[in-house]
Amino acid sequence: KRGYVVGGNWKCNGTAASAAALVETLNGAGPIPENVQVVVAVPSVHVPLVLGSLRSDIEVAAQDCGANAKCGAFTGEIFAGQLLDLGVTWVVLGHSERRAAGESSALVADKCAVAVKEGLRVMLCVGESLEEREAGLTAQVVASQLAPAAKKLSKADWGKVVIAYEPVWAIGTGKTATPDMAQETHKEIRTWMSKNVGADVAASIQIQYGGSMKGANAKGLLSKEDIDGGLIGGASLTADFFNVINGVP
Ligand code: 13P
Repeated sequence: KRGYVVGGNWKCNGTAASAAALVETLNGAGPIPENVQVVVAVPSVHVPLVLGSLRSDIEVAAQDCGANAKCGAFTGEIFAGQLLDLGVTWVVLGHSERRAAGESSALVADKCAVAVKEGLRVMLCVGESLEEREAGLTAQVVASQLAPAAKKLSKADWGKVVIAYEPVWAIGTGKTATPDMAQETHKEIRTWMSKNVGADVAASIQIQYGGSMKGANAKGLLSKEDIDGGLIGGASLTADFFNVINGVP
C-alpha cells in the first residue's frame, strides 16, 4: 500500500512562544512509524523559528504561496522559491479557508504549478460544503476543484502532489465524515484521477482526509483503503497529533 502523509495545519494560530512550546511537545513525542511522512504547516511568520528547532523527521510546510513564478513586485506574496530557500519543503494550497477568502480553483492550480516547478511538494485541498453534499454534488464539486490542476500539471508534477479531501462542513465543527463516507469520496477522487490524469497517478497518489480528525477517530479513517493520511487542524496544536500519527495501520 501507499505510505501515509499526516499533516498538521496550525492555521493562523499562536505566538512565537506558543510555537516554540509546540515544537518542544513534538520533539518530545515518540518515534514516527516508518510508513508515515509527517509535515507541519505553520504560519509563515513562524517558519524560521520552527525550521531551526523542530526534529529532523518532521518536515515543514507553508500554508499558502503566491502564483507569481519569481520574486519581484508582488507585495504581500510569498514566492515558492523563497520558501525552498529557507528549507520549507511543502505547501498547503487551496485550503477551504483560502477559497472562502476568494481563491478560485484556477488560481489554486496556477499556484500548484509554480510550487511544483520550484520543487515544493503540495497538499492540494478540495472539499464540498454542507449544501453541496446535501444536494448530492460532492463528486462533481471535487472534480471541478481538481480539473484546473489537471490541466496545468504533468504526470511527473502529480508525483509531488498529495490531495487533501476536506469536507468544509467537517472542518473545525467536531463533525467528522464517517470512515465510510470519507472512503466513498476518496475512491471517487481516485477514479476521477484515473480518467483525467492516468491510472498510474491515480494508483500512487496519496489522499489525506481532513476535518475534525483527532486521535480518537484516526484509526477508523486510516484503516480505509483509499485514505492515505490526514490533514489535522485543531488536534495538531496538541500532543494528540501523535495519536493520529500512531493511528496508522
Ligand atoms: P480541524 O481538524 O480543526 O477540523 O481542521 C481541519 C483542517 O482544516 C485541516 O486543514
